[in-house]
Parts: sequence; structure tokens; C-alpha cells
Amino acid sequence: MTVKTASPAKAVPVATPTTRPYWDGARAGELRLQRCADCHHHFLYPRTHCPSCGSANTPWVKASGRAKLYSYVINHFPAPGWEGETPYVIAMVQLEEGPRMMSSLVGVPADPAKLVLDMPLEVAFEARGDMMLPVFQAAGSQA
Ligand SMILES: [Zn+2]
Repeated sequence: MTVKTASPAKAVPVATPTTRPYWDGARAGELRLQRCADCHHHFLYPRTHCPSCGSANTPWVKASGRAKLYSYVINHFPAPGWEGETPYVIAMVQLEEGPRMMSSLVGVPADPAKLVLDMPLEVAFEARGDMMLPVFQAAGSQA
């Protein structure tokens, strides 16, 4: 007997009450982060309290979507759902507002000669299941 299994799909994020505004923003085509109303510190990942001053007054704001490439790794090992897509770039990007976030870099070859640190990037969105994920592309490209 042969059992056939579908190839695994890429993991789909699950929103929690704390992260729901971030994912709702992505679905609306906005990169959102939190900005403390008391000390004005921007931060991401989503939290209930400001990591700088401890305030719970941390409304969500729309980020500019502009960032720079802070660091990266070229992954050659296919994670579940990524078969056929290696190598790909896992990037640490520095948002214009200050926070750094890990994301995918799209539309740029997974080649160290093309991956220049501090290169300007802009957010784009990639569908994953019923969610939209922020990814980054070279600024001004149409990836
Ligand atoms: Zn604060």
C-alpha cells in the first residue's frame, strides 16, 4: 500500500490578541508597529507594554515601510514548504523608525555580491494561507 502525502505547506502565522493589529495591518497592506505614547519609542514585535519605559499606552501606527538591509543569511536547506525555492534570503532589516525585524528578502538574488548591507528596502506583502506576510524588496523595484 502506498500512502501519498501532500508536500507540506509553508507555516501560516496565527494571530493572538496581542499580535492581531499587526496581522490586520498586513492584510490591509500596511506594516504596523507600536509607538509608546509616553516615551515615543517605536517597537516591534508586538507587546502589551513598552520595552523602554513599561507603559501600557502603546498604540499601533503605520510604519513608512522603508528599511535598510542590516544583515542576512542565505538558506540552502529547504524548510517544510520551501522545497524548490532554495537558496533564499532570510534578512534582518532595520526599519526607518528604528526597530529591526526578521523577514524574507524577495526579488534580489541570493548572492552575496547583490546583497549590500544598508541597501534601501521597502515592504511588500506575500500571501500565506489566509494571512499576508510583510516581506522586503529592493526600494523602487516592482517585485
Ligand atoms: Zn515607553
